[in-house]
Amino acid sequence: MPAITVEDTLVLPRIPRPDPVTRSRPVAKVVTSRREAEGAGFVVARPFPGDFSLAEADPFLLLDHVGPQVNGPGEAKGAPWHPHRGIETVSYILDGEIAHHDSNGGGGVIAEGDTQWMTAGGGILHDELPTERAYRTGGPFHAVQLWVNLPPALKMTPPRYQPITRGDLRLLTSDDGGALVRLIAGDLAGFAGPGTTHTPITYAHVTLAPGAALSVPWNAVFSAFAYVLTGRGTAGDEHRPVERDQLVVFGPGGRVVVAGAGGRAEPLDVLLFGGLPIRAPIVHYGPFVMNTREEILQAIEDYQAGRIGTIPADQLAPRSFA
Ligand code: MN
Repeated sequence: MPAITVEDTLVLPRIPRPDPVTRSRPVAKVVTSRREAEGAGFVVARPFPGDFSLAEADPFLLLDHVGPQVNGPGEAKGAPWHPHRGIETVSYILDGEIAHHDSNGGGGVIAEGDTQWMTAGGGILHDELPTERAYRTGGPFHAVQLWVNLPPALKMTPPRYQPITRGDLRLLTSDDGGALVRLIAGDLAGFAGPGTTHTPITYAHVTLAPGAALSVPWNAVFSAFAYVLTGRGTAGDEHRPVERDQLVVFGPGGRVVVAGAGGRAEPLDVLLFGGLPIRAPIVHYGPFVMNTREEILQAIEDYQAGRIGTIPADQLAPRSFA
């Protein structure tokens, strides 16, 4: 069963139904993910960057979705040592676990229901790998990683982590109890999530029972997106059909509506996210995302000179499962 679940959603705080005169955000477009190979060769569904512009995605840069899948023994793969600068990478594990290490000596295991919020800022080297147990025995795996841009003034901020464990998530439900909302960061209907962000955003994982609908107030100056992890349903008051691996880009308005397909459909699992657009120029090269070409050249030079960090000596031994 993915992520954190509760047996009885009716014990959770309820999100009141927004005032129906508040304009529901229309579906501006639906983007189907492309399949890409990442890291040591695992396949991700990637709705963006791709078929819509980075200006439309603002303040987000990338979303990668792995699984849900069941790995056989020896099949789990990760992303060996690589740098980042100028962004935040937000990893949310729905099922399975990954281990990470970084050039500051940090590291640990991120397990199901947990979020790791890494502000790369001025720069960090890290790896993101299956745990040895997950590599040897295989098993279910399901995860997403969202890249959040940093405003120009914070591109070189010191790196930091926020470990947001499953117990930290703010759990909410809809007025009829048909939705389980796991608020990871930001505000939703006056409730505050555990994650704090350099750029104001809202990020939640929602499970909708078949036929259930969720209508939530949404900051009118934020962008708004819904990404379908699994299942089928509809988006907006216009009931636009959406399914697994599709991203909904919402137009302007004051609330966001998603609903699970009716009948014997499986539950709809969807990420809801949006944020305050940064509206700064973007120049990117792989894991570096800056504002000018000069800053990218500087990042490459800093990386090659070891100024973004070096792999800790105790992590240098080759691993069979990298
Ligand atoms: Mn990374």
